[in-house]
Amino acid sequence: MIVEKLLGWFSVDMGIDLGTCNTLVCVRGEGIVLNEPSVVAVRKGTNKVLKNGTAVGSAAKEMLGKTPGTISAIRPMKDGVISDFDVTEAMLAYFIRKVTGRSRLFAPRVVIAVPSGITAVERKAVFESAARAGARRVYLIEEPMAAAMGAGLPVGEPTASMIVDIGGGTTDVAIISLAGMVTCESIRVAGDEFDEAIIAHMKKHYGLMIGEQTAERIKVEIGSAAPLDKETTMDVRGRNMVSGLPQKVVVGSEEIREALLEPVGQIVDTVIRTLENAEAELSADLVDNGIVLAGGGALLRGLPRVIEERTGLSVRVADDPLTCVARGTAIYLENLEEWKGTMDSDVDDG
Ligand code: ADP
Ligand code: MG
Repeated sequence: MIVEKLLGWFSVDMGIDLGTCNTLVCVRGEGIVLNEPSVVAVRKGTNKVLKNGTAVGSAAKEMLGKTPGTISAIRPMKDGVISDFDVTEAMLAYFIRKVTGRSRLFAPRVVIAVPSGITAVERKAVFESAARAGARRVYLIEEPMAAAMGAGLPVGEPTASMIVDIGGGTTDVAIISLAGMVTCESIRVAGDEFDEAIIAHMKKHYGLMIGEQTAERIKVEIGSAAPLDKETTMDVRGRNMVSGLPQKVVVGSEEIREALLEPVGQIVDTVIRTLENAEAELSADLVDNGIVLAGGGALLRGLPRVIEERTGLSVRVADDPLTCVARGTAIYLENLEEWKGTMDSDVDDG
C-alpha cells in the first residue's frame, strides 16, 4: 500500500485512449500530454514497422494515401478490432515510451481504454503489449465507461446514464448504472463511414475520385445531419474518373447531408434499439438524464437534434468530446483504489 503510494509519486501514471482514429495519453496531474493519430507506417507486404522517427502518429498519418510503393500507412485499430497485433504493439509502445521518455524513476501504471467489442485474446494482447512497453501495472477499462466518466456522468450512482461515443471506426451506445455497463452495443458505423459516404457521393454525382483526407475535410467543413441555418458550399479537388486529370468542383452542404443520411440513420437506429431493449426503471431514469454524445463524430452539425427528434429525449454533446475517453482514464487513475475490482471492466490487474 505505502510502497504503491511512493512508487506513484516517482512514476508517471498514465491513461491511454486507444482510439480507432486517435490515441490520447493523459498523465496524472498534467492532463493530456499526447494526442496523435492511431496510424503506423509499415513496409508493404511484411507489415514491418519503419525504423525511423516517421513511423507512428502524426508523421505516419500524413503518409495515408500518399505513400510510395514500398510503404503503407495503416490504422491497426480501424474497425475497433485489432487487425495486426505486432503493429498495434509497436504503436502502443511508441506512445508509452514517448511519454515516459521524459520520465522519472519508476515504470508507470497504465490504464488503457479499449474498444468494447474486442475479444479476450485482443484484450490480453493489449495488456501484454503495455507490459512489454514498460508498464509496471496495467488496467483495462472499456471505452464507453471511460467516455461516460470523462463526460462527467454519475457512473457510480444507482441511476441510468446513456453515452453514445461516435469515434472513427465504431459507435458505442451504452447504458451505465452502478459502475457497470447494463447494455452496450457497438456498430462499425462512425466517422469513417461518413467519409466513405462522401467519397461515394463524389464518385456518383461528379465522377470525381477523392481521398479519405479530402472527404474528412468536406465532412468537418460543411457536413451536417440536420438543416443548417445557413447552407454553404465548398471547392473540392480530386481526379476526374473519365479524363484521369485533376479537377475542381463546387459541392453544397445539402447534398452532403443527403449523402450522410444512411450512416447517420444507422447510428440513430442503434440508439433507438438500445432504448427499446432497456428495462423500464432505466428508461424512467433516462427521461430525466437524457443522452450524452462523445467522440469526434458527435461534432457533426445537427446530430444531437436528429437524435433528440427521433428519441424524444434531451441530447447534449459532452464538453470537448474528442478527449472524453482520455479524461475518463485519468479520473479512473485518480480513483484506482476505489474503482479497482468494483467495475466489471477492469479486472486484468498484473
Ligand atoms: P476514435 O476514438 O475512434 O479514435 P475520435 O473520437 O477521435 O475517434 O473521432 C474521430 C472521428 O471524428 C473522425 O472520423 C473525424 O473525422 C471525426 N471528427 C472530428 N472532428 C469532427 C467535426 N468537427 N465534425 C465531424 N466529424 C469530426
Ligand atoms: Mg474513441
